[in-house]
Amino acid sequence: MTTRETCAQIPARLLAWYDEHARALPWRSAPGEPPADPYRVWLSEIMLQQTTVAAVKPYFDAFTTRWPTVEALAAAPQEDVMAAWAGLGYYSRARNLVKAAGVVAERGGFPDTEEGLRALPGVGAYTAAAIAAIAFGRRAVVVDANVERVVARLFAIDTPLPGARAAIREGADLITPDERSGDFAQAMMDLGSRICTPRAPNCDACPLAGDCAAREHDPERLPVKAAKKTKPVRQGRAYWIEREGAVWLVRRAPQGMLGGMRALPDDGWSAAGDGSGDPPVDGAWEEAGVVRHTFTHFVIELTVLRLESAQESGLAQGEWWPVERIDEAGLPTLFAKAARLAIAARERLL
Ligand code: SF4
Repeated sequence: MTTRETCAQIPARLLAWYDEHARALPWRSAPGEPPADPYRVWLSEIMLQQTTVAAVKPYFDAFTTRWPTVEALAAAPQEDVMAAWAGLGYYSRARNLVKAAGVVAERGGFPDTEEGLRALPGVGAYTAAAIAAIAFGRRAVVVDANVERVVARLFAIDTPLPGARAAIREGADLITPDERSGDFAQAMMDLGSRICTPRAPNCDACPLAGDCAAREHDPERLPVKAAKKTKPVRQGRAYWIEREGAVWLVRRAPQGMLGGMRALPDDGWSAAGDGSGDPPVDGAWEEAGVVRHTFTHFVIELTVLRLESAQESGLAQGEWWPVERIDEAGLPTLFAKAARLAIAARERLL
C-alpha cells in the first residue's frame, strides 16, 4: 500500500529494475550513463506526442540521418521537413519543429530549464519536463499517459480524468527523486508500457507491487476515464485527376488542418463542416471508394473521385506528379489512403 512514508523507497526499487530492463531506444542513453543529446531527446519527444514508439523509430532514424543536428534541421526548407514528416500525423508538430529548431540554432543551444524549454514552439508542460529531466538531469515531474496510469494505480486515485490530474501530479511529485530524475522518468514510462499496461497489468513482474494501493483491487479499472464524446462525422470529397501517368497535386494553405502539405484537391471540408461537393473541373468523374479517417475532433468520410485526361485549364495552382512515384510526394495519411484507392480503381480498369 502506497503511503507518503513508503514513497521514499519507490525510486530506488524502480531504478534498480530500470538498470536491468530499460528499453534500448535510439534517442536514449543507457541507464546511469550521461544524458543523451538534447536534440535527439527533443526530436523524439515531439515525435512521440500522440504516436507510438514503433511508429516513431523509422522517422527518427530518417530525420537524424538527414538532419543530424538542430542547426541542420533549422536550415532545412519547411516543405522538405513536412514531406519527411508525412504519415506521422498532427502536422502542426512538424511546423513547430522547424520554428523551434530556428530558435535553438539562433540562441546557440537548447535552454536547459523547464521554463526555458517551455518557451520553444510546440513544447508544452509535459515535453519541457521530459527534456529537462532526460537531457539535462534536472529534477522535473514528468507525467505522460503511461506515468498517469502507473501513479493512479500506485495511489489508487479513482477520481475520473481529467479531474484526477492534480492528484496524479501530486503523487508523481512525491515519488520523483532528486538524483537520476531522467532515468526515473524513463523507468516510469517503461513500466507503464511494458508491465503496468492499460488492460492487463502484470503485477507479478512489477518492482512496485509491494507499494501499490490498487494491486489487490482490479488495477485495470484505473485511471477512471470520463465517458468519451462522440466525434462528429464530416463528409468530403477528394479528386484524383490523371493525365499521361501523372496526377494533379496541390499544396494546402500554410495555416489550418494539414497546412503546407501536398494533397489531392478536395471540396473544402473541415472540422467545422462538410465539403461543397463541387469538383475543381467539370468532367466524367467516377467514384473510386470512400476513406474513413479519424482526426482529434472529428471523423472524415472522404469520397474519392477519379477523372482521366483532364486538361490543365481550369485547375488552380498545383503540379503534375508521376503516379508511379506517389509514395515520394509526402502525402499525409488521409490522402495517401485516398491515392491508394484511386490507384486500385485505375488498375481494375486497365
Ligand atoms: S502492482 Fe500492478 S497495478 Fe500496481 S503499479 Fe505494478 S503493475 Fe501497476
